Amino acid sequence: MNDLVKGSIDLIRQLNYGLVYASLEEHTELSRTDLSRLTGLSPASITKITRELLDNELVVPCGETSVGRGRRQTLLRINERRYQFLSMRLGRGYVDMALFDLSGRSLSRHRHQFSQDEREELLASLIAAIRRFLPAKGVRLACIALCLPGQVERHTGRVRHFPYYDLRNWPLGPTLEEAFGVPVLVSADVRTWIQAEREWGAAKDCADAVLVFVHNDIGVGMVVNGQLIESENAMLGDLSHLQLEPYGQRCYCGGFGCACTLVTNQALESQYRDLRVRMGEMDLPEQVTIRELCELALEGNSLCQQILQQAASRLARVLANLICLLNPGKLLLGGELARADRLLFPMLHQSLASQLPGEYLVRLQIESTRFYEDPTKPTSIQVHKALRDGSLLLGLLRGHDEEGIIRG
Ligand SMILES: [Zn+2]
Repeated sequence: MNDLVKGSIDLIRQLNYGLVYASLEEHTELSRTDLSRLTGLSPASITKITRELLDNELVVPCGETSVGRGRRQTLLRINERRYQFLSMRLGRGYVDMALFDLSGRSLSRHRHQFSQDEREELLASLIAAIRRFLPAKGVRLACIALCLPGQVERHTGRVRHFPYYDLRNWPLGPTLEEAFGVPVLVSADVRTWIQAEREWGAAKDCADAVLVFVHNDIGVGMVVNGQLIESENAMLGDLSHLQLEPYGQRCYCGGFGCACTLVTNQALESQYRDLRVRMGEMDLPEQVTIRELCELALEGNSLCQQILQQAASRLARVLANLICLLNPGKLLLGGELARADRLLFPMLHQSLASQLPGEYLVRLQIESTRFYEDPTKPTSIQVHKALRDGSLLLGLLRGHDEEGIIRG
């Protein structure tokens, strides 16, 4: 059999298993007849797939239902306790970790701050932190999902560039896979989070949505017509180096006046320090974090409001490009800056209205992201997707867990 034909058969098999799992996830309890009707698969296929899922205890019986003429059928549901998965977000100087069951319930969580020494050997420190976090007994790890603010090669799990640590071609996915014997799904923050917003959050009913995350850079996750814009190229959705001021400040990329020199957290904090001295506002704190800057602006401080106003008009120039290109129904803003949403969003609307034809703004809603406080939850969307498309499910049935179980 040639590779192409074999590949297709394997893919169909994978998708069929995923379809059964997704139906059970959506409807909670189903008979085999229900499954056949919902998935369009033959009763024989459903019998085969559910038998395998039952043998692996991924699915368990949970009662009976009548299917006419007094016949009764067993109801099946996902056994959410069969496996657990680890969802992590690697931030700047820390890692957030949470253990979830298959239903998406968080079982335990922890933030580990890396010491200066640990940062030198980040990969080894990360593995040690995970080992300390995972319970000594009773965990059957299905996979690890991880996201970070950097450029990630989707299929290899390698990190092309992680700016905060200045790591390049960092073998994050492959190393964790070897250490823990389970699949590791690595993704850039924004690409994962826009999917979570589509699935569970602020963009649930919107097929065209973009998520703009402002931190030390400006990342963009995009969904068009319900589909995530993805590429094998790690350099996707980074608007940090869009030039806003040709004679502006020098950027680390070598350019001048890049958006990241003007509207990121560090840039706004620095603008605050300069403006405070320039305006002689010595009663204000010498320096503030972006969070404090937003709070002061919300409390009515005019200097901080001025900084926000300037940030809004600059950010609007970045957003106007995105809006012209994708014409989204929802624009979700994430990052500390969004704490001042009550002030910032009207400023953005006003600034966009002066730059764009009205047609673009008729349906545009600007909202905050829902999951900012808990990045492990949106990261877990990768696992749910891998179960529903069958790829992770088949791995579990084939028994990658046998080696992957973390034993006490
Ligand atoms: Zn730049």
